[in-house]
Amino acid sequence: MPRNRKTLLSFYCDDTSPYAVGAKAFQTFLDYCAEQKIAGESSAILGGGGHSMTRKPSDEEQAFLKQVARAWDCGIGTHMEVMTHSGLFDFQTNREPEGAVHEGLWLHEPAVTQAEYERYFRSILAEGDGAGIRFTGLTWPGCGCDPCKRRYA
Ligand SMILES: [Zn+2]
Repeated sequence: MPRNRKTLLSFYCDDTSPYAVGAKAFQTFLDYCAEQKIAGESSAILGGGGHSMTRKPSDEEQAFLKQVARAWDCGIGTHMEVMTHSGLFDFQTNREPEGAVHEGLWLHEPAVTQAEYERYFRSILAEGDGAGIRFTGLTWPGCGCDPCKRRYA
């Protein structure tokens, strides 16, 4: 009986954003996953730069969005880390207002209605749609600040 020569591999590739390591690094990652037939997920934080990167993107943001849009075809689903992975985003003004409550806290707030949550998530999906991005999941929504960490503990 031949031994099964396959190896189970699990890894985490963090900060695949246009700001941390750039679009080219994400492209290399996706190419590798496609060639090796690796399936997984990556996250996209469309408002992580303080504005929605799908509206008037910089060249680097545009290059990154192009990669996110092809991720699924490379075996990688795209999960959202909500909109900013920080403060609640204002879709009207296209920015994260200074001092905004963090998404991680807001998502665990009994006073917020289901309709408010639906409106916020629909707005994120709409931002993704504009760039050809289809989210396939949601990652841990709290950022690394102490109040978010305490809330999710
Ligand atoms: Zn936080």
